[in-house]
Amino acid sequence: MSAFPVPSMLDARTQAFPILTPAQIARVKPSGKSRRVEPGEVLFAPGDTSVPFFVLLSGAMEIVQPSLSGDVPVAKHDPGEFTGEMTMISGHRCLVLGRVTQSGDFLELTGDALRSLIARDAELSEIFMRAFILRRLELIKHHLSGLVLMGSRYSAKTLQLREFLTRNGFPYVYVDLDLDRTSQDLLDRFSIQPEEVPVVICSNRGVMRNPSIQKLADCLGFNALVDDTQIRDVIIVGAGPSGLAAAVYAASEGLDVLVIETESPGGQAGSSSKIENYLGFPTGLSGQELATRAITQAEKFGAKMMIARNVVRLDCAKRPYKVVLDDGRSLTAKAVIIATGAQYNKPRIPNLHQFEGQGVYYGATFMESQLCEKEDVVVIGGGNSAGQAAVYLSQTSRKVYMLVRSGQLSDTMSRYLIQRIEQNPAIELRYKTEIVGLDGGKHLERVTWQDKTTGETSTHDIRHVFIMAGASPRTDWLQDCVALDGKGFILTGRDILVGTERAATLPVTPPQMLETSLPGVFAVGDVRSGNVKRVASAVGEGAIAIHMVHRALAEL
Ligand SMILES: Cc1cc2nc3c(=O)[nH]c(=O)nc-3n(C[C@H](O)[C@H](O)[C@H](O)COP(=O)(O)OP(=O)(O)OC[C@H]3O[C@@H](n4cnc5c(N)ncnc54)[C@H](O)[C@@H]3O)c2cc1C
Repeated sequence: MSAFPVPSMLDARTQAFPILTPAQIARVKPSGKSRRVEPGEVLFAPGDTSVPFFVLLSGAMEIVQPSLSGDVPVAKHDPGEFTGEMTMISGHRCLVLGRVTQSGDFLELTGDALRSLIARDAELSEIFMRAFILRRLELIKHHLSGLVLMGSRYSAKTLQLREFLTRNGFPYVYVDLDLDRTSQDLLDRFSIQPEEVPVVICSNRGVMRNPSIQKLADCLGFNALVDDTQIRDVIIVGAGPSGLAAAVYAASEGLDVLVIETESPGGQAGSSSKIENYLGFPTGLSGQELATRAITQAEKFGAKMMIARNVVRLDCAKRPYKVVLDDGRSLTAKAVIIATGAQYNKPRIPNLHQFEGQGVYYGATFMESQLCEKEDVVVIGGGNSAGQAAVYLSQTSRKVYMLVRSGQLSDTMSRYLIQRIEQNPAIELRYKTEIVGLDGGKHLERVTWQDKTTGETSTHDIRHVFIMAGASPRTDWLQDCVALDGKGFILTGRDILVGTERAATLPVTPPQMLETSLPGVFAVGDVRSGNVKRVASAVGEGAIAIHMVHRALAEL
């Protein structure tokens, strides 16, 4: 059976709320202690940290989501069943309230004891992990968490926060102020100004006006359990496919690992609607799905994640190295893996910034596709990601104009995508064409493009542009610590000896494969010079790097 089977509707409930056999309970017992419970006793509540895990030996309990209009029932547990959902693994704040309804004896385990049991016992690991994932999916489906996001479809910040919550698999209620007059009246009564939208009601921890994703992450307690004083075996900067793969292998091989991600895990792949060339997924999977599975897998093995924190500097003067965060804190590690990937170059259009998130997007996921349903859209770029976006958007948009700067689609575009684009009547390919003007008010309303062969310009009533052309490495934070190639990608292994322009950065001992010019610092995925820009190669490099990290640690 696969690790994440897709359950049929019939057995979904059984898999989300399985009953442990006496033999399975006997294997849990040595990890916990028995606790007598009485009706009305609250065992955990929303916002709690370090929530224990319970197996019901006798008695019963209910799980509810407290709300202003009373408790919303989530589940009931009887003997043989167990509590918990994904927060048991991530260590994030609890989302629901657990109350005893019938006296009995419960087996109580700390979060650490549960995680170590999961690492030792493959059968229990599969039962618990599957139940936790399915229960989280139910919470997301029914928007159960106490978090309310009130925003506008015309606000870039609303889109950013929605993407952040979705990509982190966090349930929330979304209120669209453009459609819901009552909520808008409520905001008016509290004198909330348009520039203070979106408004987030963060469970029972207050109301935030136009919060940054860092503030939202802090309010949700995403990083509450990260100890900054600890010296770790390895810190991974970036949680795209390469960083997440490195995290899974590092944690599963017993290394003490922390992953730091400036936005949400998933990286560029997270903005892909469907990845069809990743080994083992013949019908494809979305980048979001891949990322969610990888995070769960990494956390299951004990990797710690720090979300919505930007690494601004590597203090490489001496080992162990320090990774400096945007809030001034620094974290120490004996080895560092740089997995910061690449990001799309922004075309030189004067008012591009004004429309980012309000008509100009750098990813084409379900969220963006909803915003431009049955409308015309433009996709800029001739590579794989642009092609994929064009095909995906053509399913919901009226027409997709694919603007390619050169005279052909990229040589690296997959054959299957070229065929789909060429045979799709909803996609119009325009070569040697570039956008020269964007126009609108609050939201993008018109696009002007120029045919570079004829010089002719034309303006179109198009409200959505997807930019997916040419990516640059995210290495600005590294300053002079490691050797880079002429385009700013990180040189590794033997390439350093050939490609470096700065002899001063050459290490004394020859670097290992994937090792940078700084001993014990590795680079993987799209940020690495010479990397093949594919999910599979990013994942492969992330896994291989851990082998090299073991060697580097042994040499210390
Ligand atoms: C729309 C789209 C579709 C794609 N489709 C496919 C496909 O079908 N098949 C395929 O094989 N490949 C595809 N790719 C390419 C693939 O996604 C990339 O090759 C892969 O994501 C690279 O992984 P990575 O981990 O090296 O970097 P990235 O995915 O770029 O991840 C880097 C991560 O590091 C974080 N980060 C950056 N700087 C910092 C910092 N200073 N501090 C903390 N965190 C930081 C970023 O926020 C990001 O999450 C696609 C790419 C895109 C954009």
